[in-house]
Amino acid sequence: MPIKAEYIWLDGAKPTKQLRSKTKILADGQEPPTWGYDGSSTEQADGSASDCVLKPVFTCPDPIRGGDNVLVMAEVFNAEGAAHSTNTRAVLRDVAEKHTSHEPLFGIEQEYTMISDGWPAGFPSQGYAGPQGPFYCGVGVKNITGREIVEAHMDACLKAGLKLSGINAEVMPGQWEFQIGPAGPTEVGDHLWVARWLLHRIAEDYGIEISIEPKPMRGDWNGAGCHTNYSTKAMREDGGMAVINAACEALGKNVDKHLEVYGAGLEDRLTGAHETASFKEFLYGVGNRGASIRIPLHVSQAGKGYLEDRRPCANIDPYEVARVLIETTCG
Ligand code: ADP
Ligand code: MN
Ligand code: MN
Ligand code: MN
Repeated sequence: MPIKAEYIWLDGAKPTKQLRSKTKILADGQEPPTWGYDGSSTEQADGSASDCVLKPVFTCPDPIRGGDNVLVMAEVFNAEGAAHSTNTRAVLRDVAEKHTSHEPLFGIEQEYTMISDGWPAGFPSQGYAGPQGPFYCGVGVKNITGREIVEAHMDACLKAGLKLSGINAEVMPGQWEFQIGPAGPTEVGDHLWVARWLLHRIAEDYGIEISIEPKPMRGDWNGAGCHTNYSTKAMREDGGMAVINAACEALGKNVDKHLEVYGAGLEDRLTGAHETASFKEFLYGVGNRGASIRIPLHVSQAGKGYLEDRRPCANIDPYEVARVLIETTCG
């Protein structure tokens, strides 16, 4: 039986890259080969020299098509064989390779909003839901919308072998979260991008749009983030607290560099309200959900573990976020 290989890659859309994919039929047992596509249709090339190259970097079972079918995450190269300027994974690979001795690990909390007919699912049609409060981790039809999609997505991620570590309903109605990790620098990005692709794809079957806008609803509604939990080997070992504090100090000296890759539109989300710190200030503290960086209580009690950078928005490119965290704290 021939194999359907769904090649997934990132386009050149600005300011936020989008997912693209297409199918290649492989012979039974064939490894996914290098492939190509029309880069002039993805903001990655001119029509006169439009060919871009796809090199497979991560392959997993396709939980939707089942059987021996696979999902293939690919990096983009130009016709001359160089990494494409939009290939942020290639840049991360180089940085991560220099710092393997630090054994960095990442856990990313992907928040997202289900949209039905242009309006958050869970809000009355073109009206507003009651005030936030009962929805976070809620149960029952008054509080919850879209659980069937969340369950289908969770099963799909597990069948694909992704490092999914959990899901929860979020503070705004129609808003949910899944977590990927702990995983290494390129691995967390590969798994997060494939999990996002699966979410968009599964939601198609329900006629639901998945938004990763940082602030999908203006007003007194929580935005959507990608809290990034991060540790190095030294942070996880005895005496790790001092290393975590030093990392927070270093992060405070590199605010602009980080905000540059923490998601387009972050000013609308990082206002200082709704469990965020303003993007204009930098704060870190134990258990503080109004800080830029939170050190979880259990980490402070154990004296080792990890930190949570709460600034990255839902629409980040995880390859870029992993890169700057390593550069700032392992340099
Ligand atoms: P929150 O309390 O902020 O909602 P979550 O439980 O949603 O936290 O997410 C915590 C994330 O931290 C998970 O993805 C988990 O895998 C990750 N994590 C746990 N330990 C580490 C570690 N040592 N380094 C990096 N990430 C970690
Ligand atoms: Mn969480
Ligand atoms: Mn959350
Ligand atoms: Mn969090």
